[in-house]
Amino acid sequence: MSPKNVRAFRRSLLRWYRRDGRDLPWRGTRDAYAILVSEFMLQQTQVATVIPYFNAWLRRFLDFASLARASENHVLHAWQGLGYYARARNLHATARAVVDRHRGRFPRSVEQMQQLPGIGKYTAHAVASFAFNQPAPIVETNTGRVLARILNFRRPIDQTAGQKALWQHAAAFVPKRSARIYNSALMDLGALVCLPRRPRCGVCPVKKFCRAINPKTLPVRKFRPRTKRLTEKHAFVVRQGKILLEQSAARWRGMWILPPLRTSAANQQPIYKSIFPFTNHRVALNVYARSWRKIDKHSQRWLRIDSLDSIPIPSAHRRAMRHLLSEATAATSRRQRSSES
Ligand code: SF4
Repeated sequence: MSPKNVRAFRRSLLRWYRRDGRDLPWRGTRDAYAILVSEFMLQQTQVATVIPYFNAWLRRFLDFASLARASENHVLHAWQGLGYYARARNLHATARAVVDRHRGRFPRSVEQMQQLPGIGKYTAHAVASFAFNQPAPIVETNTGRVLARILNFRRPIDQTAGQKALWQHAAAFVPKRSARIYNSALMDLGALVCLPRRPRCGVCPVKKFCRAINPKTLPVRKFRPRTKRLTEKHAFVVRQGKILLEQSAARWRGMWILPPLRTSAANQQPIYKSIFPFTNHRVALNVYARSWRKIDKHSQRWLRIDSLDSIPIPSAHRRAMRHLLSEATAATSRRQRSSES
């Protein structure tokens, strides 16, 4: 696209954005901390899910210093329900690094940002443009799709060469002075108009600049991740107002889960079954009733059932516990009623 057309494209896009763009809580701030929190939360998670977490997080951890001081337990508890907990741990580690290495001030240089835990090229560019208004391009799901369509870009974007070329195109579109608003507008166009399966070309504010021949086929990807199936077996063990839980050292490191069953549960019926997604997996969670004699003191604890709300537990396991504990309470009251009658 010629420089003149790029300027006209941006004008049309910004005119639309001022009228129809989304009013999101992190758009009203230039605070690098708040913007970084929103960027971590938005990875793999929908905007509507993030908004209440974002607001609650900022009330709980005001800035890098207060997040750096918090325990991992508190951080995971505040993140609970958002999933992909590596993001919470990286955000926590970044807060500590900002306090230790940068005296609590987030660096302005994209290169320095990328030295921090969990901050890659996209996140660094997002903070550089949204917090510091630097002319940094961003290529993520929404903006990548819009640019690929506008340019009828047919190279696979999940291959290094295609990614690199798309970033270069993105850089050619970013204005020098108003990258903050331009990047927000491009994201919103992808989220509201240039939709993955049903692009709304009829109402698109930049239609006259768009070269997409068959927009639904763009962007091109070489590989489509296959969903893998997993079955995980866990135990439900309660006694005298307490439940046996294990602190995960793997996927949910630091969080408390129903103890994994290391022995076969063949010929037994689970008392609870559910399915939850995890990255490209579809996990079947099967829970079995157990009476535990010997516990692993290193990772397992008897925790009071009335304290469960204050400890970090991944959503899939919390749902299982809530269901099974309420069933257990109902069964106890039924037994009491029948013994009284
Ligand atoms: S015209 Fe259609 S494909 Fe092109 S940017 Fe607009 S919505 Fe996307």
